[in-house]
Amino acid sequence: MKRIVLTDRETLQLEEAPVPAPGDEDVVIRVERAGICGSDAHFYRAEYKGTKFPLVLGHEFAGTVHSVGRKAAGFQPGDRVTAEPGIGCGRCDFCKSGAYNLCRSQDFIGGRPGFPGGFAEYVSVPARMVIPLPQEMDFTTGCLVEPVAVAMHCLGRGKIQKGDTVLILGAGAIGLLIAQAVRWGGAEKIIMSDVAPERLALAEKFGADQVIDSGKEDLIRTIQERYGEGGVDVVYDAASVGPTFSQAVHVVKSGGRVINVGEAAKPVELERDLLGREIELTGSRQYTREDFTKALEVISTGEFPLDQVPIRYYPLSRYTEAFDTALNDKAVMRVMFTPQEA
Ligand SMILES: [Zn+2]
Ligand SMILES: [Zn+2]
Repeated sequence: MKRIVLTDRETLQLEEAPVPAPGDEDVVIRVERAGICGSDAHFYRAEYKGTKFPLVLGHEFAGTVHSVGRKAAGFQPGDRVTAEPGIGCGRCDFCKSGAYNLCRSQDFIGGRPGFPGGFAEYVSVPARMVIPLPQEMDFTTGCLVEPVAVAMHCLGRGKIQKGDTVLILGAGAIGLLIAQAVRWGGAEKIIMSDVAPERLALAEKFGADQVIDSGKEDLIRTIQERYGEGGVDVVYDAASVGPTFSQAVHVVKSGGRVINVGEAAKPVELERDLLGREIELTGSRQYTREDFTKALEVISTGEFPLDQVPIRYYPLSRYTEAFDTALNDKAVMRVMFTPQEA
């Protein structure tokens, strides 16, 4: 089979490899769609400390079951599936409580050597992490379940209440999906900011009530003029570029919540307002089984208009173009590989 290997920082290679044989408790999936996520871009640029190469990236994918391990019950070849890529140790307190996203010895499909991901024709996954797709769900939508689960986890971390005003800093794929999630969760007003006009246009299309071009407008002043000194109830920092954290703290109301979603490239300075105005600061990391279940549910009921998502497809052989588009084309929300296409 073909697979894309990240051999070193910003160095990709198309390789021939044997189709994986499933371990006793694994399922091998024939990959139909695999999305390039923001964290794949971080891996690509070697921005995570301690990243080891080579890596086969790709943690959001959907396809059909190809083969099933001896002890992997519940799956048949041909079943349409996606998977949770985070693999908790199963023994620590976090794993036992269901919060495997916080497991300190978590493995990750498509992010660790020894756990090759979905940028390949086939990928092997522990059966307990494989999730059946509803019959009517196409593979593209199935591939979006993972990022939607990220957004559903953000919804929970934000403790969104009916009627809340929510500001989302950063209108990339995750920012846009958070907008959908908080709307579903009862948010009344959604404001989104970004510096890329293409993304602001997407934000408007995805139902933001107001968009702010923070490259041109003073975000803090714009929010305060419109929503008063009190600011907004909840701010999601899905950009995490340094200034956005400070902006978040300045526009959230006293007692409000700031949720860090994006991976910050540099350390940020803690703002005094956190203490003075009792601002709650929290993070949102990955998802749990519950978020995946909820993601499947909201998608199935048609409450997330995912058919609007601008997606660009590439066969594995066009990996250079695919990564270039994912990294640079702000009008595309997801780049997906179609590994079964030559
Ligand atoms: Zn992802
Ligand atoms: Zn654990």
